[in-house]
Amino acid sequence: MVARIIPVPSFDLTVFGGTGDLARRKLIPALYRRMRDGQAPRDARILAAARSDLDDAGFRAMAREALEEHVPAAERPAEDMDAFLAMLGYVKVDAMGTEGWDALAERLADQPDRPRAFYLSVAPSLFGPIAERIAGAGLGGPNTRIVVEKPLGRDLEGARALNAQLAEHFDESQLYRIDHYLGKETVQNLMAIRFANALFEPVWNARHIDHVQITVAESLGVGGRGEYYDRSGAMRDMVQNHLMQLLCLTAMEPPNMFDPDAVRDEKLKVIRALDPIGPGHIGTDTVRGQYRGGPLGPSYVEDAGDPDSHTECFVALKAEISNWRWAGAPFYLRTGKRLRARMSEIAIQFKAPPHSIFEGETCHGNTLVIRLQPDEGITLKMTVKDPGPGGMRLIETPLDMTFAKALEGRGVSMPDAYERLIMDVIRGDQTLFMRGDEVEAAWAWVDPIIAAWEHSGAHPQPYDSGGSGPEDALMLMHRDGRRWREIA
Ligand code: NAD
Repeated sequence: MVARIIPVPSFDLTVFGGTGDLARRKLIPALYRRMRDGQAPRDARILAAARSDLDDAGFRAMAREALEEHVPAAERPAEDMDAFLAMLGYVKVDAMGTEGWDALAERLADQPDRPRAFYLSVAPSLFGPIAERIAGAGLGGPNTRIVVEKPLGRDLEGARALNAQLAEHFDESQLYRIDHYLGKETVQNLMAIRFANALFEPVWNARHIDHVQITVAESLGVGGRGEYYDRSGAMRDMVQNHLMQLLCLTAMEPPNMFDPDAVRDEKLKVIRALDPIGPGHIGTDTVRGQYRGGPLGPSYVEDAGDPDSHTECFVALKAEISNWRWAGAPFYLRTGKRLRARMSEIAIQFKAPPHSIFEGETCHGNTLVIRLQPDEGITLKMTVKDPGPGGMRLIETPLDMTFAKALEGRGVSMPDAYERLIMDVIRGDQTLFMRGDEVEAAWAWVDPIIAAWEHSGAHPQPYDSGGSGPEDALMLMHRDGRRWREIA
């Protein structure tokens, strides 16, 4: 396995909100690493545009601090740091007003033909005003790309309004809606496993697969973000986007080619084939939870600052896809805060062999686990003979492929999702970005569930911090004669 670096052309990237948390933690380190690997050319320009009173030197000092905090010292030789910081600049811009826009246009004027990306790392209420001003400042040519990130609306109506605001000034082909889960190496590998190997595709259906489990478990609570989080909840914050994307990539038909619209068309078909979960099924097919207080910290409602909060920080649900491939093989989704461990995975549970020829021995179905974190990798649980002279006893054992181990000693490290995604923006490849209609279709499925919860007036169920979620989440699967995989 050799990682090949294909350099991108010289580009100008403007990060609105370039002084914010996302920029400091993720975007600046990602850009630094891409430059260091020789993928982002050293004459690329990265401008931060934000409200703070800074100049180029001030922003470079801030970026240096961000790199010192988020990139290991061994990866920060002075020469590379200096080269990267020289690529950075700062423009004070008011997204809602007129200040700074002429200065920004002036900074970019001498390179009109470069890919010109604008990363909107700001609150979504600023997406429309910024898009309008980019176009108004004459910066919206055919090589302009606009990058936005969640939350893309808080319901279907909001998502439509956001899409309409962006569409007023930019074509869909210029819009890059990030779901950073799609930039994860393992998630892309899911597509490689499915569509670059003939082994799995013939059995990738309800005839051979019993069910699929998708888990995104976090060990931390909402902490200081409680009040902010309480306005959204796990369904909006995680299920509508990240878990839905993982479900789509697992369930979609093979696209005819690895091309942005071919892939996104197939994902959209999956979302549209999801059975609606109406008020009649809310009680059986969905579970909401809130963590209790304990040694790990205060309870969810205390973190949220609202003792009567009805917002869920845990969701488990059963999704059924009504098409030929999946009818009869449900997808169980689960995500929550303050659970036993930080773990994200997609587990494909195959059916057991129809008959055991080994007397007294049970043959279990194989499990293919695509692990997103920790230790990105893929495991196939197989049944084999227990070695030794003790007769034909069977044991289950994993065939394990941890990518970081596979890459060890090759001088290649696992890239962060943002590294891949930002380079795709510059290359003009939208394959790993969500199209507007996909986002809207996901809201259209999620909205009635949230509405039914609100209508019921019921409280989410409390669960123990550091556990695996509310009792009813276990029951959700037990009723179907199945069980969740352990969160570990
Ligand atoms: P933040 O509050 O840390 O930073 C906001 C940035 O926006 C600052 O640089 C600020 O100067 C700038 N800004 C605010 N109002 C402005 C205005 N009127 N004109 C110009 N600049 C203005 O926010 P963040 O955590 O970096 O998040 C940015 C966006 O990314 C949000 O929409 C957030 O939901 C989303 N997001 C963040 C994360 C994360 O890990 N932080 C993850 C996913 C999505």
